[in-house]
Amino acid sequence: MSNYRINTKCIQSGYTPQSGEPRVVPIVQSTTYKYDSSNELADLFDLKADGFFYTRLANPTLDAVEKKIADLEGGIGAMLTASGQAATTTSILNICKSGDHIIASNALYGGTFNLFVATFKKLGIETTLINPDLSYEELDKYVQDNTKLIFVESISNPQLVVTDIEKMAKLAHSHDIPLIVDNTFPTPINFRPIEYGADIVVHSTSKYMDGHAVTLGGVIVDSGNFNWANGKFPEFTEPDETYHGLIYTKDCGNAAFITKARVQLMRDYGMPLSPQNAFLLNLGLETLHLRMERHCSNALKVAEFLSKHPKISWVQYPGLEGDKYYDLAKKYMPNGTCGVMAFGLKDGKAAAQKFMENLKLAAMVIHVADARTCVLHPATTTHRQLSDEQLLDCGITPELLRMSIGIEDVEDLLEDIAQALDKI
Ligand SMILES: *Cc1c(COP(=O)(O)O)cnc(C)c1O
Repeated sequence: MSNYRINTKCIQSGYTPQSGEPRVVPIVQSTTYKYDSSNELADLFDLKADGFFYTRLANPTLDAVEKKIADLEGGIGAMLTASGQAATTTSILNICKSGDHIIASNALYGGTFNLFVATFKKLGIETTLINPDLSYEELDKYVQDNTKLIFVESISNPQLVVTDIEKMAKLAHSHDIPLIVDNTFPTPINFRPIEYGADIVVHSTSKYMDGHAVTLGGVIVDSGNFNWANGKFPEFTEPDETYHGLIYTKDCGNAAFITKARVQLMRDYGMPLSPQNAFLLNLGLETLHLRMERHCSNALKVAEFLSKHPKISWVQYPGLEGDKYYDLAKKYMPNGTCGVMAFGLKDGKAAAQKFMENLKLAAMVIHVADARTCVLHPATTTHRQLSDEQLLDCGITPELLRMSIGIEDVEDLLEDIAQALDKI
């Protein structure tokens, strides 16, 4: 980790060219790497030496971006994946196997929800969804002997629930299990979960990190803080026969988690980010600090406007005074939360759909958290697979609209929203 401030890390971390080398991280568009001796290659395969041999496992462009993101989050290492979903999946399969149990917040991204309740269930991994607002004592009752981890979103998509990360970390650690935090919405600019006890951080880099809606991607960051040798995680302490008996906790020290994720799961499942996409992601990261500031200041003005508008029944934006999560947001994210908000129109679902269609600047798209303002109706799109009961359980009412405020001039956004509301 470098000692520079976070704004400097966005620009400079991860890549330090030597004299005469390219100033900008180059795109190493090569699947493979040449060696002079077979011993060198053998050592790479045995993990006895660091280096590149096949881009599924590691690539110099990805390596630079991984180092930058690890530095931004305050972790010891990171691994990029082809999407946010791949990052979440890998972070969990690196810990859990059939017969294990997960505790997850019920305020989750729709894709993560399906992954947990449908796909992991088929693999024999059971999930209990909990309300993250419950007290420590109430949450404690859900931990089972086979519970292997707790998974939450720092700010949930799309409900904008701010999770009390210290409470969750304390709960996890009192049972010798790790806390995984999906930190996609605040980004490390506004919140760094590891500083509050998170063990693993995951992101969909498709959102603010890329920031321009041009590349899908995901990342897993390892804090290096969790003790995988506490007796609950035999896969980390027993020899891995596919590496001649390597023991992750012994041979990889505090990088046991991120090394195992790469050399076992990336090797076997294979969902790497492409070098081209890593390059584009890095361009996004170079302005992340500037964009987040504007996303947040624009969003606060829009949230204030909506909250006073007679046609709006409610607004959820954790940066808005009076919001249910305002105090938690102020504690964990004093400089701002994110650019996304949820709100409901007094006239319900039909009015919500009409409003979306009336917008001129803000576009109706599935994406969220990029430079352009956009709007979405989760109940009929991202969370469409959920039953009505599941929708209500995770706070997605039929009239809920999710709006992602971009970095346009906020006066133009306010005018657009005002005219769209006037027409309903
Ligand atoms: C979008 C998103 C994901 C999934 O990421 P993809 O890159 O679309 O696979 C996971 N978590 C959150 C909070 C997201 O917003």
